[in-house]
Amino acid sequence: MKRFALAGNPNCGKTTLFNCLTGSTAHVGNWPGVTVDKREGLYKKFEEHISIIDLPGIYSLSPYTPEEVISRNYVLEEKPDCVINIVDVTNLERNLYLTTQILEIDVPMVIALNMMDTLEKQGDSINEVELEKRLGIPVVKISALKQLGLDELMEKAYEVSKSTRKAKTVLEGTDINHLIRDVRIALEGHNIDNPLFHAIKLVERDELEVKMHQNTVKMVEDFKNIFTDELFGDDYEALVADARYKYITKNYSPLLKKKIKVGENLTKSDKADKVLTNKWAGIPLFLVILFSIFHLTFGTDLFYISAICGGLPTLEELGMADTFGRALLACVYDGAVFTPGVILFNLMSLLTDTVFGYITLGLESAGASAWVISLVGDGILGGLGSVLSFVPQIITLLLFLSILEDTGYMARVAFILDRIFRKFGISGRAFIPMIMGFGCSVPAMINTRTLIDERERTLTLRTIPFFCCGAKLPILTAVAGAVASMLGLGDGSIISFSMYVLGMAIAVLTIILMRSTTQRGEVSPFIMELPSYHAPSFKALMIHLWDKTVHYLKKVFTVILASTIVVWFLSNYGWDWKPVDIISQSILASIGQLLQPLFTPLGFGSQLNEFGWVFIVAALTGLIAKEEVIATFGTLGAIFTAVVAPELGAEGATDVMLMVLGTGITWQALIAFMIFNLTTIPCFGAVAAAKGETKKGQFKWTLLFWVATSYIVSSLAYVMLSWWWTMFIVLGCAIILIFVLKLFNKKHPIKPLKDKK
Ligand code: GDP
Ligand code: MG
Repeated sequence: MKRFALAGNPNCGKTTLFNCLTGSTAHVGNWPGVTVDKREGLYKKFEEHISIIDLPGIYSLSPYTPEEVISRNYVLEEKPDCVINIVDVTNLERNLYLTTQILEIDVPMVIALNMMDTLEKQGDSINEVELEKRLGIPVVKISALKQLGLDELMEKAYEVSKSTRKAKTVLEGTDINHLIRDVRIALEGHNIDNPLFHAIKLVERDELEVKMHQNTVKMVEDFKNIFTDELFGDDYEALVADARYKYITKNYSPLLKKKIKVGENLTKSDKADKVLTNKWAGIPLFLVILFSIFHLTFGTDLFYISAICGGLPTLEELGMADTFGRALLACVYDGAVFTPGVILFNLMSLLTDTVFGYITLGLESAGASAWVISLVGDGILGGLGSVLSFVPQIITLLLFLSILEDTGYMARVAFILDRIFRKFGISGRAFIPMIMGFGCSVPAMINTRTLIDERERTLTLRTIPFFCCGAKLPILTAVAGAVASMLGLGDGSIISFSMYVLGMAIAVLTIILMRSTTQRGEVSPFIMELPSYHAPSFKALMIHLWDKTVHYLKKVFTVILASTIVVWFLSNYGWDWKPVDIISQSILASIGQLLQPLFTPLGFGSQLNEFGWVFIVAALTGLIAKEEVIATFGTLGAIFTAVVAPELGAEGATDVMLMVLGTGITWQALIAFMIFNLTTIPCFGAVAAAKGETKKGQFKWTLLFWVATSYIVSSLAYVMLSWWWTMFIVLGCAIILIFVLKLFNKKHPIKPLKDKK
């Protein structure tokens, strides 16, 4: 099967093109560095199927980042039948810099001039016929987003893949051409593939090449001595780069005709950036945007209309009869207009309640035994129902976050954060995987491969779980809802939003701490060019969300379902494998009770009554998948209903409210519980991913870090919220700690980063 590789700069549209060609649904992000690994898919429009490989985005074929090494090795060693070099026409020079390097490899190639839609909208134009002549390879104008020119591109690629192409270089007319030629001839003598490419890299003293061709290095240096050093200086790498850019600006750039803009030459994007990335307004605006998203997803009072009007009547007060119609209407309005996220949540709950109600009714009328009804009703349906009803809300939140990402705003956030957090020891580059962590920790952890500095990678990996992922959201929403009603606040959105922000704050604080103790070092530079703003593509968004929904539902019906059944079993049976009468005698209870004293400082340990262990077992089951915390509440809540509800008159209370009433937990401890779940060891999948990305033998420290952070931060939160004056003690300790660290760092200054050469 023929293989075509997509190569190009970060953010030039490779993944978008890959998705169009292969019908795949890989994640497209409007910032550099989303695709770290190469990815494969099939193009099926020709008789012969073609394998398409999406390589990570790179600016050059030098060996400085993992992406560059992956892409370069692929083209050199796996020898694809054609390289489709995607060039973002709106950044022509920088993109052609990579092109001039791929040209030096003996591989058939075509150029896809992408983003033609944007170029034409700006009123600019490019002479692609002349560009094709000058480059000596086919050039096709396309728009991956609008799906234009793709067939022509593939036909051209197919055509060139039938023959071979001899490498050529734009360095021919320069002073070092002799040197390159002599090295090339020597390498050809050794029967080395791609002699031209290797010759140029050897002249540049490229690290990888030097390692690979030890015996030729000496020869190259001898050659260099023949051409006296004074002539060129000694920095051959800079020399070569400079020659490439000169060639590009002289020969290719003039082919791009820019419309002459009169007067105001700030683009709309620039104008927006003046505000959005403003030194002072940037972060407050980010928080406002984030809060609005939270409000729209979790708020039960749209734009606080009801609060402003001093309360609106409920449906009951309006005199509506209790029918299914009212239940349906109540999903949208009941004393307040609900926000989109909450409406979806209500609809989903109504659906699951109705369907599950029929299932239980069916079982009862079919004469199923009591334990079957309990297993299905309490165990499976109770657990699954509570997780399922959160799916629409998680998807709503992801939709908003994807819009922010796709418009290019998230890249700005990394940029604004870089300005501030650089001082604290981390670059904005590291914030890209962290922000990805809002979706799911697993891809975020894999993305840390793009960080070159080992220590920065470790810091980032460890703090990614603090960025609340989609699966942890239900914990925040459900528990925050209970806290809000205990405190008499309208809805929990302010609390869950605060938890979200607190997670980020804990990340920053622990980074500062690690940076001044075990992970000391300089902050690596952060160069990222800001992608231009554009309207998000509806199709790409829908594909992304659909993907997430399917992934989520799969998880619910496999891992969550299985562990829910286990939880039901453990909470209904004792160590003698016989059903227990009182839930506190079950296996699950005894495990929880054993651990209870450990959690006393966090507020949900021994101080609670005989049912107090439920919070501990819920947190434990979260190690499998974070959704399981809520599923466990659902299962236990169903059992609790019989215990608590009749006594306290708690019919219709949420699962968490049942837990609250049944255990006597305080709101302070509930907040500690949320923080604990947010910061402790993440789910099984994320642990595996983090282990895979960590050096051998180092992972135990990361685990210890999670355990210690969650324990310390949650107990501090519980203690400070319960006894306000302890704040002063904590503050005092913090000041002493800062002082000691400062002193330590002064005595042991950080050695500056070693120079590359
Ligand atoms: P990659 O980093 O090279 O994989 O780039 P992506 O495929 O993730 O695309 C980066 C951004 O450019 C996304 O926001 C895309 O929607 C956008 N994009 C891709 N192709 C086009 C195009 O042809 N026209 C326009 N206007 N935008 C595009
Ligand atoms: Mg990509």
